[in-house]
Amino acid sequence: MKIAVLSGKGGTGKTAIAANLAAVCDASMYVDCDVEAPNGNLLFTSSIQKTEPVYVKIPVIDAPQCNGCRACTEFCRFNALAFVSGNVMVFREICHSCGGCVLVCPTKAIAETRQEVGSIAYGTSKNIHVISGAMHIGIASGIPIIKELWNVIEAASEPVFIDCPPGSACSVMESMQHAEYCVLVAEPTVFGTDNLKMVHELVKLFQKPYGVVLNKCLKNEWNPAKEYCVQEGIPILCELPFDQKLAEIQSNGGLVVRKAKQYKNCFSELLKSIEKEVRHAAAVDS
Ligand code: SF4
Ligand code: SF4
Repeated sequence: MKIAVLSGKGGTGKTAIAANLAAVCDASMYVDCDVEAPNGNLLFTSSIQKTEPVYVKIPVIDAPQCNGCRACTEFCRFNALAFVSGNVMVFREICHSCGGCVLVCPTKAIAETRQEVGSIAYGTSKNIHVISGAMHIGIASGIPIIKELWNVIEAASEPVFIDCPPGSACSVMESMQHAEYCVLVAEPTVFGTDNLKMVHELVKLFQKPYGVVLNKCLKNEWNPAKEYCVQEGIPILCELPFDQKLAEIQSNGGLVVRKAKQYKNCFSELLKSIEKEVRHAAAVDS
């Protein structure tokens, strides 16, 4: 079971929901794909067993071999190569490491070198494998790291909870596109509802089964996110209250399911609802 947890903006509680869902399983994996700002680790206080670098391939030009044909600059759709004063220049920050320029060069003047773009940390916290990707400062794209994280996710036999980056950009698409089910986390504000609409469009585009967790709900207060779900016929998986105790536990770097019985029950019920939805989606698919 591979569950992506998304939200249209930061601060909705996405990481806490992914982490607490992982913690109520007998055995599970939590994967932090929010590689620009991974912080799931803070909730788990997990012990990191190993960290591995992530590399991409970047072209390097052997100038004496180059005949100036410009086949490489014409090929590169990302404009990462330019022909300037008789030389091919490489703009490594915008290179997508597709390797195409190497293939089209008629004189074999282009080789590839490795560039480290980030790392993946592997840890454990009781029954949970905690995997976190992190980009190095100054790197333009986290996509190569998320692709590496997906190699880990695909190999997992236990349920996996994927903490996606916030928003709906390409890094979010890369994080959720192979998930079996998407949990959308929304706040009860007009801004939160607009962000919910964005990720709702995204999961529809990818034809993913999905449901919503309404977080930080205030008793007897208008909830535009809930109103939107009802209007659109979106399944509401659970409504979590705005609760100072919950915020305090998290601020101190803890998982609420390990410290408050009512939240253990609440997340266990949420997990059951998700499992039911995943089974239903699989049955519809087959
Ligand atoms: S590897 Fe691909 S993206 Fe990078 S410079 Fe070559 S053609 Fe462009
Ligand atoms: S394709 Fe090769 S030979 Fe042609 S400009 Fe590029 S590096 Fe030079």
